[in-house]
Amino acid sequence: MTDMPAVPAMPAMPALRQLVLILGDQLSHDSPALAGLDAAQDAVLMIEAPGEATRVWSHQARIAIFLAAMRHHAHALRQRGLTVHYIRCDAPGQPPGLAERFARALAELQPRVVKALEPGEWGIEQDLQRTAAQAGIPLRWLDDPHFLCSRADFQRWAARETELRMEFFYRWMRQRERVLMAPDGGPAGGRWNFDADNRSGYPKAGPGEIPPPARFAPDAITREVIDEVRQHFGHHPGTLDHFAWPVTREQALQALHRFIDTRLVHFGTWQDAMWSDTPFGWHALLSSSLNLHLLHPREVIAAAEAAWRDGRAALPDVEGFIRQILGWREFIRGVYWGDMPGMAQANHLQAHEPLPGWWWTADTPMACLREAIGQTLRHGYAHHIQRLMVTGLFALLARLRPDQVAAWYLAVYVDAVEWVELPNVAGMALYANGGRFTSKPYVASGAYIQRMSNHCQGCRYKPAVKTGSQACPFTTLYWALLDRHEAEFASHPRTALMVKNLQRLSGPDRQAIRDWAEVVLDEHVRRCAAA
Ligand code: FAD
Ligand code: SF4
Repeated sequence: MTDMPAVPAMPAMPALRQLVLILGDQLSHDSPALAGLDAAQDAVLMIEAPGEATRVWSHQARIAIFLAAMRHHAHALRQRGLTVHYIRCDAPGQPPGLAERFARALAELQPRVVKALEPGEWGIEQDLQRTAAQAGIPLRWLDDPHFLCSRADFQRWAARETELRMEFFYRWMRQRERVLMAPDGGPAGGRWNFDADNRSGYPKAGPGEIPPPARFAPDAITREVIDEVRQHFGHHPGTLDHFAWPVTREQALQALHRFIDTRLVHFGTWQDAMWSDTPFGWHALLSSSLNLHLLHPREVIAAAEAAWRDGRAALPDVEGFIRQILGWREFIRGVYWGDMPGMAQANHLQAHEPLPGWWWTADTPMACLREAIGQTLRHGYAHHIQRLMVTGLFALLARLRPDQVAAWYLAVYVDAVEWVELPNVAGMALYANGGRFTSKPYVASGAYIQRMSNHCQGCRYKPAVKTGSQACPFTTLYWALLDRHEAEFASHPRTALMVKNLQRLSGPDRQAIRDWAEVVLDEHVRRCAAA
């Protein structure tokens, strides 16, 4: 990029009035941190830090999407006349870490004050705060308006509740934001939630034709990033051969409109369905754009609601989609900030098995996992049910260490930022925080995957078989987990019936499951620990 030279050491200049720090996931064109900036006295600082790409062993596509979106954003800010100090990944003489690069920039630029939006990661907030304090420069955090519910508002809502449940938060947000509401003040269509209509598997013949999502051929800036990532991070997981993610606001808007016009119409119906060689299904593929702040959740929600009001999509599909953003996304962010840093250490089920090495290669005989991890490595993407009920379920059943599992999820998805990744992994998938904000542990046997996909047809294992060489590992480990946590799961209303079924098994059958579970763990986990 010719207009964006590497900055090894910044030129001496008069002290700045204010420096606006823009982090890699804060690329909003109308950020309040930019309000009132005067190019003569103020400047923007953007930092690429190779240490961030290796601290979590990031997928090449995850590194590329952040760098490409950041460089496009810096370019757009310069075109607006702003002064942007941009420290590139390969800037000579710079330390690798974000906080160390920030410290050096503060020493060189000597701003009177630094302004920044709240970061998306607890540890980064701590590091930057400490760095600014050590430099003796005040750091002012601004509320991140890219969420509809601020951290403080969420805490006020949570303080009024007896338990943290997304459904109640979602209803409160629907009323507060006037989304999908009927004129009488009730929910549109008379129901808050059409979840029961949104759980179908594809028909036996398969998903049929699905309109493709918007994909974007890399432009010159993105191609340069791709080359650099291949050169410096080519040994990281994943590939860049299929990289086509939106990296500018214009592209993100195109992706939004393509989704609303062609794919929202069946989003809800097939939201949970999986099929081989169908990596995207009817999903939106908007999470990376939302998380990078290329799209505002309000405009995404408004576009979906307008499609329903204009008769272009049915209410169950639209409600199912809006619930993910107005409900889950906002709720998850609230619980993250409320429960950190403890959430990162939670291990309620005492899971201590190591993450298997094949999670980085997809080299496993289990067809469902091969599919979910394989497409993750190809695209940096898997949809929600693949993350929750294939990889997440296996991690839960095989008792993989939550910290290693969370590090994997943070590394491999183009939309991964800790505020959204960690609660989904620790809280939703692994039950690592003992169900603090979920109504049940998401446990199931191979029968669930058989019902929701075609993967079992091409698999060496049989989902109905509990023990022996044909037994589906999910099924064996499901019964073994119930057996291991019988008392706890018996007392939970959403798992009590599962335990009743376990209790119908004979003593020798239960012992056989315990024994076979050890064989499964040896074969698929312990002997495959990542190097
Ligand atoms: P769609 O299925 O089309 O949904 C629309 C939007 O709703 C998404 O773009 C997303 O912004 C939002 N959304 C849906 N479900 C959730 C949820 N559970 N939490 C928060 N937002 C949600 N999402 C991330 O953005 N980053 C992550 O790192 C991430 N890690 C996850 C890890 C696990 C174990 C699980 C179970 C889920 C995770 N999710 C994460 C949530 C969800 O899987 C992704 O947001 C979704 O798959 C992204 O694809 P999409 O844009 O096609 O979403
Ligand atoms: Fe996955 Fe078991 Fe089905 Fe194989 S049989 S695809 S391992 S659920």
